[in-house]
Amino acid sequence: MLWSRALINTLRESPKEAETIAHKFMLRAAMIKKLGAGIYDWMPLGFKSLSKVTAIIREEMNCAGAQEVLLPVLSPAELWKETNRWNVYGKELMRITDRHSNEFALGPTHEEVITDLVRREINSYKQLPQNLYQIQVKFRDEIRPRFGVMRSREFMMKDAYSFDRDEAGAMESYKIMFETYVRICKRIGFKFRPVEADSGAIGGNLSSEFMVLAETGEDTIVYCGKCDYAANLEKAVSKKPEQQDTAEEPLVKVHTPNIRTVEELAAFLGKKPGETAKTILYIVNGTKMAGAVIRGDREINEVKLKNALGANEIRLATPEEILEKTGAPVGFAGPINLRDKGIRLAIDETAAILKNTVTGGNELDYHYTGVNRGRDYQENLVADFAKAGKGDICAKCGGTLNEQRGIEMGHVFYLGTKYSKSMKATFLDETGKSKEMVMGCYGIGVSRVVAASIEQNNDENGIIWPMAIAPYEVNVIPINVKYEEGMKYAEGLYRQLKEAGIDVIMDDRDISPGVKFKDSDLIGFPMRVVVGEKNFKDGKVEIKMRRDKDFNLADKAEVFKMVVETVKKEKTI
Ligand code: ATP
Ligand code: MG
Repeated sequence: MLWSRALINTLRESPKEAETIAHKFMLRAAMIKKLGAGIYDWMPLGFKSLSKVTAIIREEMNCAGAQEVLLPVLSPAELWKETNRWNVYGKELMRITDRHSNEFALGPTHEEVITDLVRREINSYKQLPQNLYQIQVKFRDEIRPRFGVMRSREFMMKDAYSFDRDEAGAMESYKIMFETYVRICKRIGFKFRPVEADSGAIGGNLSSEFMVLAETGEDTIVYCGKCDYAANLEKAVSKKPEQQDTAEEPLVKVHTPNIRTVEELAAFLGKKPGETAKTILYIVNGTKMAGAVIRGDREINEVKLKNALGANEIRLATPEEILEKTGAPVGFAGPINLRDKGIRLAIDETAAILKNTVTGGNELDYHYTGVNRGRDYQENLVADFAKAGKGDICAKCGGTLNEQRGIEMGHVFYLGTKYSKSMKATFLDETGKSKEMVMGCYGIGVSRVVAASIEQNNDENGIIWPMAIAPYEVNVIPINVKYEEGMKYAEGLYRQLKEAGIDVIMDDRDISPGVKFKDSDLIGFPMRVVVGEKNFKDGKVEIKMRRDKDFNLADKAEVFKMVVETVKKEKTI
């Protein structure tokens, strides 16, 4: 491409709305333009990177034996009603009505559509397994679209779905996709980490997120410094606490006036916060109250608690609800006699092992000491719903857990029969028996990948593209287009590189070299070849990698070979 013919309107200043590095540089480097909240035009440079990401994903998916399809964006409401997601998905699902008053969803994901396709096409074990994928636009009416294409309302996704005869087969399909994602991340040049994840609204019980490591990421990753354990904060666990076996003391009701916090309570009783237990009251699925008891110095992980309670949704109870249901103001709840009030009682493992602990008295200004589980109260369930994080002990190896930030670029789920059951996607096995297919689903946020790569590869001057997904691999810059000999050489090199399959742009604009260099650094082409009059007269040309500070002088006859080799080498994993 000749720069003079290209649509590249770079910006000197960052638009005000841009908060993150990637968002700023994508706008300044003319990769995307905003059309509306969470809606963007992909400009020529941006679309080139996006297409390169798409191509890598497509190659790796095909290599893994998956087959590409293209499903409609419009999907009939009836399909979504079969799985009840027409209701469950809520406002994030974009809905439209046609001229005949038929309702449709603009696909945010395609489990329903693909399961419908497969149930119509497949009826025998002989046709399984199958892995079908597409690379297509998705719609999600995000509450807070932000960071440009990182969280937008319309974005490109690769979504794949596997169908197997049994669990073992589905696990194998899952494993293949997991390995494929590792290859994709490596080819894109990511520093990344697969982490155990909560399966959330999509369901199933095994899932991993592929996290691109970046300080600015929205997600927190908990990982072990010693072994390979890594999990999303929502899912992270730490070493199970050991049962205490101190002799049981008598239960005593203590007057604790003006005590509000765990720290105040512990100090008042001459104990450590970790020797007390706090009870937090929640409203489950909008109706029933549940009490969650956890050690005084730990925090509740609400995703884990929600899963432990088997709930769709939980929220903190309001002070009014607490007073009405327990008879005590907020801050005095405790497990003793709570179930008599019709409140379900969940105990976190950290609190379940405590002997002679301190709990609320379910009465204003009263607490109990010497509280023992089993003797003084009985629970409905014991589970792990404590937040695990930095400084905790790894459950796998005893090492110390740490935290880092990441951006979720992709997600692999083992779905089981969640969709095949509700949508009756069945097949006949060898014995002629009808069985539900066992499914998996696998997404990659293609648009987000582009932004995540920038978030990981940049400096104060702009983007530093990895070779594999750079909009152009090489920028040839004749410093002065009026210097004929140099220009002739640059044009020849440009043509030769193009013919050799190198993705090259030549900055043939008749402007100051300063502007050319600034633009080149801002857009972040991995390699630049500068033809300047003085060096050229000595038979030399400058070659500089964007990530390096310094340039090398190369013999002009060597340049073509050097560029071709470097580009090839940098794209190999
Ligand atoms: P998040 O937790 O970030 O909202 P998700 O769990 O909703 O993600 P999935 O349903 O697993 O995401 O979608 C697959 C992939 O699509 C994600 O890993 C992410 O890379 C991408 N993605 C999801 N939502 C958006 C969005 N609003 N804009 C851009 N990419 C997105
Ligand atoms: Mg989401």
